[in-house]
Amino acid sequence: MSARRRTPAPGRRNLSDRVLGGSVFRLWAGHEHPHYAAFRRAIEASQFWPAERLRQLQQQRLTALLTHAAARCPFYQKRFLEAGLDPAQANDADAWRRLPLLTKADIQNHGAAMQAVNFPLERRFRNQTGGSTGSPLQFYVDRERLDTRMASTHRHNAWAGHLPGDWMAELWGNRLDLAADHGVREWLRQQLLYRTLSLNTSSVSRQDWHDFVRRLRRKRPRFLLAYALAAVAFAEFVRQERLSDIRFDGIITSAEVLTAPHRAIIEDALGGPVFNRYGCREMSVIASECAAHSGLHVNSEALLVEVIPTPLLPAPWGKVVLTDLLNFSMPLIRYEVGDVSRWAEGDCPCGRSLPRLAEVQGRTTEFLQLPGGRIVSGPALTLVFADLAAVRQVQFLQRADASVQLKVVPGAGYGEGARETMRSRLNLYLKGEVPLDIVEVESIASEPSGKYLFVVRNTSGTART
Ligand SMILES: [Zn+2]
Repeated sequence: MSARRRTPAPGRRNLSDRVLGGSVFRLWAGHEHPHYAAFRRAIEASQFWPAERLRQLQQQRLTALLTHAAARCPFYQKRFLEAGLDPAQANDADAWRRLPLLTKADIQNHGAAMQAVNFPLERRFRNQTGGSTGSPLQFYVDRERLDTRMASTHRHNAWAGHLPGDWMAELWGNRLDLAADHGVREWLRQQLLYRTLSLNTSSVSRQDWHDFVRRLRRKRPRFLLAYALAAVAFAEFVRQERLSDIRFDGIITSAEVLTAPHRAIIEDALGGPVFNRYGCREMSVIASECAAHSGLHVNSEALLVEVIPTPLLPAPWGKVVLTDLLNFSMPLIRYEVGDVSRWAEGDCPCGRSLPRLAEVQGRTTEFLQLPGGRIVSGPALTLVFADLAAVRQVQFLQRADASVQLKVVPGAGYGEGARETMRSRLNLYLKGEVPLDIVEVESIASEPSGKYLFVVRNTSGTART
């Protein structure tokens, strides 16, 4: 990797970027996101605090969260009692370890009892995820937490050189059955505030890649946010077409595992550097690379991240377990998200004391490949199921003849309605190019490694076998 490529081109943030990212953004954020600015200022400072001071802040926030959950959330009340955990003793490591991990099945079965009683409805926001393990979940995020999540995301974007006001292309999947809002108000927001150029990778053909290039040439964003594998596919397209002008100053990859060869392909074709990021819908940004590219710094002011050893994994690998320290309407405490990771050793040359994950594994969702060359992005497909409470888990099987089977583990309320919803949504992606059959199964087996696969390719099967 040449030094030239690692250094962002200077002086290309023009006056309108600076004005819109400065005063206009601040005014808007102050109005619509009242908790954004103070939190952003606080975490700009605390990322350089001594590690011990950061740990104390986490401990205070954890105590407040546990005290709240014990008083207001029936599910946790019972769970803490059974584990012998006194919320005031959040620094009691033994009691903490006795607290069982929160599984996706717990949230599917007990989501209502996990919500805080008497939490004002207007101060929370319903969200959902399809997730990297194919288990749809519905949950609540505090309005205030949306502001602090935005502040964390902006801090981590700034590590990649991106500031509010800078245009960012997003090679990302959006649900195809939800029409984008094309109103004037939304257009203005995009032009003045968000400044994102959405390149929807949910289902892309070669013609779509050409269209993305046209749109990139019109707007010339300096930054790219992308699903890791979508960035690889786009980089390969750019290389094949010999498009030397599609370059970025910083590329943030997320949602899927980024391998070293993938990083090299992306940086070679699209400039870069690549800043790998780990996040999930339930928690927003979890960890990101800084300019030292020596592991991913954890968003420690807001999240408690644990890496828990298990006999299934060789040390120092462990299961990633997350606690959102700042979400109170429906706390997620010791949430087993379904990924594995290990901690990075030593200090980071950037001087930030936020601990670092060396790498994250477990979220390789794969593409579906359609006969006409169209690819359907795995992480985008997971969104198809996110709001379907009657679906517990799904897995796609693509056979050698390209036909697709969807395996579904049904939950309460599952029936013909859910089947029809899934079929009609999926047809937007598959466009009738391959046969789709839906089968209900009792469970979905993991691989011998314990890893769950969202898309399985069976090179020998056909629809009739
Ligand atoms: Zn660093």
